[in-house]
Amino acid sequence: MGALPYADSAVVDGAWDGPGEEAKLSNDAGAATYRKMYAWVDPSKDADTKAAYKFPHHFVSNGSPGAASVSGVRAALARAAQSGTSIPDADRSAVKSHLQKHLDKYNSSSKSLESEHEDELQSLAMATTLETRGRILLVRGELIGTLCDLHGHHVSAHTLRALEYQARTKVPSQVKTSDDSVVQVIPLKGVLRPTPSLFGLLFGGGGGGLLGFRDQLRAAANNDKVSAIVMDVDSPGGFVDLIPEIASDIRAVRAQKPVVAVANTTAGSAAYWLASQASQVVVSPSAEIGSIGVYQIHEDISRALDKEGVAVTLVKAGKYKVEGHPFAPLDDEAAAAMQDDVNSYYDMFTGDVAKGRGVEQDAVKNGFGEGRMVMAQRATKIGLADRVEQLGDTIKRLAHPGARAALQRADAEALQPDPPEALQPPPEEPRIPALTSEERDRVLSVLAS
Ligand SMILES: [Zn+2]
Repeated sequence: MGALPYADSAVVDGAWDGPGEEAKLSNDAGAATYRKMYAWVDPSKDADTKAAYKFPHHFVSNGSPGAASVSGVRAALARAAQSGTSIPDADRSAVKSHLQKHLDKYNSSSKSLESEHEDELQSLAMATTLETRGRILLVRGELIGTLCDLHGHHVSAHTLRALEYQARTKVPSQVKTSDDSVVQVIPLKGVLRPTPSLFGLLFGGGGGGLLGFRDQLRAAANNDKVSAIVMDVDSPGGFVDLIPEIASDIRAVRAQKPVVAVANTTAGSAAYWLASQASQVVVSPSAEIGSIGVYQIHEDISRALDKEGVAVTLVKAGKYKVEGHPFAPLDDEAAAAMQDDVNSYYDMFTGDVAKGRGVEQDAVKNGFGEGRMVMAQRATKIGLADRVEQLGDTIKRLAHPGARAALQRADAEALQPDPPEALQPPPEEPRIPALTSEERDRVLSVLAS
């Protein structure tokens, strides 16, 4: 009998790549490890080799299989049902029953999870709708519809499970290097806003708190033990608040030590704004990055209120105080003011990307995807990113002092070309004339009074 016994484990949703998960198991992991990932072993083969196993369906992290993937389970069930599958009929039903137990657990738990979180989801949807109203947004365009539609809809229990899983499979925050320093990994996840929120927790599993990110960045910059910083980015963007400030912080840190941003796997809009300020932008093979653009939404809810029999009157002081309010269609003057704001932020955004990437601002406005998300390979071709690489490999690479030094050298060359003007003496700075003793006495007496 080659069917492997079912063992109780978490079952999670999310993309499933069987060969990819298998590849994370080493070739000498041993039978005990392999038995946790598969549903069948060929009894005539060496049980200590991966080749003896079939029907993978568990995720692997840190070399060990853990939660089952519901997609993996479904795929394995479909394959076990095929007559061409070369396993004995006697084993087939035991394999199916192993897989079916995972599926049953998933189906029953996702139902209870959904009802358990119903109230939370309702208030979350409401908070989300309120949070976006009137704000300057730097988030992937296609997501904003979802955010607004959330009102009245439910986030599936599957999404929650995937987030739970994500939260559990954390990348270690410090990795030792070969020269006794550390590579510091700082997460930048979820919808970006100054402080973490339910909103951020829902979409990124991280919270998106920018103040926390900045604290970690500054601590890593000031810690001599830290020889390189990796930004582990998975975010569709967020609000504009604090983004330009933190972009400038990243550029300052990059002058001291290498900062590498890894899109693992999304760096959209505000998240790309920050990522593009790193010494190097790395994209995971399945990553999407870009969405360089700014927008603001105006919602006119007057007709909805009309239907409900609600009339709203705004009593105001200050000519533009209630401009852009949601109780009437947007007028031309307010629309123009909103457009001005959006344009200013767009200039800041593209200007910073140009600085970070060492290109002209026009190249960012007229290339770089023009507001679209761009897939990994193309992103490296058009200048949004420097290389395609997985997060773990980037960390390993930075553990070598030679790689870090090369990165700093290349960065210094890219950012500080030797323009001819640099050879000319700097223009004379206006001198501030020294105070006469009388003047000084007068100033001191004013200050003392
Ligand atoms: Zn299993």
